[in-house]
Amino acid sequence: MRVRVRLLAAAVAIGLAATVAPAGARERGADGVFEERTSSHFRLLQDVDLDRATGPSGSRRFEIEVLEVLEEGFDRVDELLGLRPRRRLTVVVYDPQIFDATYARLVRFPMAGFYRGQILVRGDVQVTPQLARTLYHELVHASFDAEAPSLVLPAWLNEGVAEWFEARAHGKRRLTPREWAALQQIADGGQLPALGLVGAPSFSSLDAASAPLAYLYSYGFVDHLARRYGERELRRLCQDVVRSGNVARAFRRVYRATPDELAEAFAVEFR
Ligand SMILES: [Zn+2]
Repeated sequence: MRVRVRLLAAAVAIGLAATVAPAGARERGADGVFEERTSSHFRLLQDVDLDRATGPSGSRRFEIEVLEVLEEGFDRVDELLGLRPRRRLTVVVYDPQIFDATYARLVRFPMAGFYRGQILVRGDVQVTPQLARTLYHELVHASFDAEAPSLVLPAWLNEGVAEWFEARAHGKRRLTPREWAALQQIADGGQLPALGLVGAPSFSSLDAASAPLAYLYSYGFVDHLARRYGERELRRLCQDVVRSGNVARAFRRVYRATPDELAEAFAVEFR
């Protein structure tokens, strides 16, 4: 099954070492027993090694907060991307050590979570901004899949929209100066990728050096579309893509241009 991956945020900083110590790693480890809890649109399974069930740092509070983040994300996906999954989505939050031990070998870069029919994320002992962003990111992949299960999106679109959404939903508009500088540096070296090069369905085969750039470029491109044509058109694009199942046609209808022509216009920003 295809895997949609989210980088650990630390890895997005260009050139950062691939090794990241597990946050909140503990001696004892998780017990392998998953707690289950549901909300209107989600079924949550979690195995984070929390010392107690009750109280402000207990597992119940944690589960309720994760579901609150997910339900809020569900509404934002609808609002910003026009996607609204009809089936209940399953989300598995792993103890970070278990997650790394089980899934780190899937890819060659540090990973915060991925989507594979279910949302699988590397947990934490509390709902950090980082965990919330990972949940939002994976929610985009899950929403595309729930709305159009047989549709294979190019990774630049799937990851670009997921990166854009997790940033935008948390109040970030546009790339940071540092992100922009990283893309400018690639552009100056004449290596800004053609969309075709990042057109595979997944970035999971990329190495630790090229994966952050592929994510950043895809995010930058989707951000370019949102800035140039407006967020409403991006929402229309997402809806058209899942309805028609045809990315090229959706781009023609919404932007009256091909993805490659639009990528060329994005590249002009760096000249
Ligand atoms: Zn992703």
